[in-house]
Amino acid sequence: MTTEESTISPLQARLDARGVSRRTFLKFCVAIAVMAGLGKAAAPDVAQALEKSTSGKLLPVVWLELASCSGCTESTAQVTTPDIASVVLELISLNYSETLSAAAGVSLDKARTDTIAAGGYVAVIEGAVVRGWDGNGLRIGGMKGTDLVKETCEKADAVIAVGSCAVDGGWQAGYPNPADCCGVTEFLKAEGISVPIINIPTCPVNPDWLVAVLVDYIMLGKLPELDDKNMPSLIFGESIHDNCPRRGHFENGEFVYQFGSVEEEKGYCLYAVGCKGPQTYAKCPITRWNESISWCVEAGSPCIGCANADPTRTTRNWVDTMTPFLKRQRNMRIGDLYFQAAPVAATVTGIVAAALVCHGFGMKAAGRTKGGADFEPIRTYDAKKLKQAGKEAPTTPINEGNVEKFTKGGDE
Ligand code: SF4
Ligand code: SF4
Repeated sequence: MTTEESTISPLQARLDARGVSRRTFLKFCVAIAVMAGLGKAAAPDVAQALEKSTSGKLLPVVWLELASCSGCTESTAQVTTPDIASVVLELISLNYSETLSAAAGVSLDKARTDTIAAGGYVAVIEGAVVRGWDGNGLRIGGMKGTDLVKETCEKADAVIAVGSCAVDGGWQAGYPNPADCCGVTEFLKAEGISVPIINIPTCPVNPDWLVAVLVDYIMLGKLPELDDKNMPSLIFGESIHDNCPRRGHFENGEFVYQFGSVEEEKGYCLYAVGCKGPQTYAKCPITRWNESISWCVEAGSPCIGCANADPTRTTRNWVDTMTPFLKRQRNMRIGDLYFQAAPVAATVTGIVAAALVCHGFGMKAAGRTKGGADFEPIRTYDAKKLKQAGKEAPTTPINEGNVEKFTKGGDE
């Protein structure tokens, strides 16, 4: 062996084997340092810590999959194209995962109980806890799912709830919630189990965010800075709307009113077809998915607000509050009380209704968007309001069908 070969670290060897350049790796370290709240300057420390971690003991992880579609496992295990994240995920020792472990049956369950007995591990929970039928709604390895969660979480150094289902019950806990599903925080609190919990919502979880949290934990031995919902503040602190590449169209009052329309082709703002970006806080437009290739709005779908999973609320989870996904916001929430926006607005003042549901249009009416596309369709409600204000409304909406569709049974 040459001197040069002997100085190559295990991590560098892995990177080389996968064709990942040192430069790409360092860029990744900068992103991780920023997401973990350490700042860009800490990138060399991140790189050094990662080098050290690959040479030492790997962090034991037990990954439980409860009521879920396995989307978060799928999102995290993007191994078809090996990337930096998959290299870094080799920093952990995934001792138990119903989906990814090669072992099965008794030997897999033994790996879980051995890990718990040895201590010093992190529990990652994907999916909702099923409390229905006395916990028998979900059984794994002959155990009630609820017992499995209790046993795995109570001795963990930390619990990471990945994906919106683990955070507030998600799809499974949507009304009428027949299986009595809930998020991990609510369940452990009710069971009197006190353990540090970190919530990473979205559907599915973004693997880079999970990696950032794990790296932070491996490096500093502590969880990153969390907000009042135990979510990493640096990841869930800015609105989708603020970082959205379609934001200019929102400001110009240029909206998509129907999928398949000219406006959609032009990449206009998706607010009128239900985008929840303005009330959703997550770094989706910055981090993106699938090796940063794209994200929901860029792929043409309105944001459905999946990052709004809230572990502090026990009624009406994110699915209840964000539906219907392809219409503008149906409910206004004040604490745990819900109002239909339209009757309230109509009662108080019609202007409030206009402000709530036609904000983008209001900007156009105010003249801030002079020069916007002349083929922009206009809803009959908007046209009426313009007329009442003594302003001239466009006379030839090109999508009459759309106007009818979005005013029929609409939210005003
Ligand atoms: S409403 Fe949605 S599509 Fe429009 S700018 Fe905001 S986040 Fe982007
Ligand atoms: S853009 Fe919206 S719907 Fe898409 S993952 Fe982010 S929060 Fe969820």
